[in-house]
Amino acid sequence: MAIAKWSALLSVPLLTACGDATAPVRRPSPRLERFAPPPVYDLWWSMARDCSGRNGSLHGVAWYVVPGTRSIVVNGKSYKGYWYALGNRIVLAEAAVLDGSLVRHEMLHALTSRGPHGRSDFLERCGGVVSCEGECLDDAGPLPPPDPGIVRVKSQGLDIDVVLNPQTPSRSLFDGHFTMTVTARNPYGHAILVELPPAGDAGPSVTFEYRVEFSGGYAQSNGRSWDDGVTRFAVAETKQYVFDFRIIDAPGTASDGGLGPGTYTFRGAYGGGWAPVSPTVKLSPP
Ligand SMILES: [Zn+2]
Repeated sequence: MAIAKWSALLSVPLLTACGDATAPVRRPSPRLERFAPPPVYDLWWSMARDCSGRNGSLHGVAWYVVPGTRSIVVNGKSYKGYWYALGNRIVLAEAAVLDGSLVRHEMLHALTSRGPHGRSDFLERCGGVVSCEGECLDDAGPLPPPDPGIVRVKSQGLDIDVVLNPQTPSRSLFDGHFTMTVTARNPYGHAILVELPPAGDAGPSVTFEYRVEFSGGYAQSNGRSWDDGVTRFAVAETKQYVFDFRIIDAPGTASDGGLGPGTYTFRGAYGGGWAPVSPTVKLSPP
């Protein structure tokens, strides 16, 4: 039995997604190429728009790619993507063009028209929907200590749910791209601080994770508690995390979220507490 085990999202990538409203906009390099947003950008834009509560048109953004690159350099630093206030432009390394959390991060800059990474936008409203690592976490700054009276609970007591978007992924929708959103809701009548189990490695505790099961094995990945905010829930608060997938032609799985033809069950968890119901869908070849 083949076991596909994808690497956990443990390391903090050196290359992050960022924007800076004050960065000088240089004359576009000859290597920059304008591109039309692919269909999945409509889905990703709607997710960034919904979590941010901001309005804006995807087509108000000018999209550029630097072909053949894994990173771009802005003011001496490497990034996978960068938003420029002037002209509302987003420049992506080619390797990042279909990186959902990274692209949604840049979209959030465009929707908020702000370069700095405010905690309220990048870690609270849109936490788990957009990537926030490195410079983004630094900008957000640490949370103040929790209220000493806050009630500490185990993660198993939360309400966990899994939703696919579209509900029935298909090659004819968004070129086969789709998302799995895992949500965790505080069911108690008061604020809580969730005590996550320690990770099985040297990294921070696992927050949201998935395990996608199919007849030939499974694929899994997880997010980690890089920021304390992910463990603090207000009354009735729901937190979410979005995992990105796409339908591929080859059987089995690919490390970037590609799933070949077959039937898959999407299991999701927060802090080791699993959703009681898991969507099962059949993915068909083109
Ligand atoms: Zn950013």
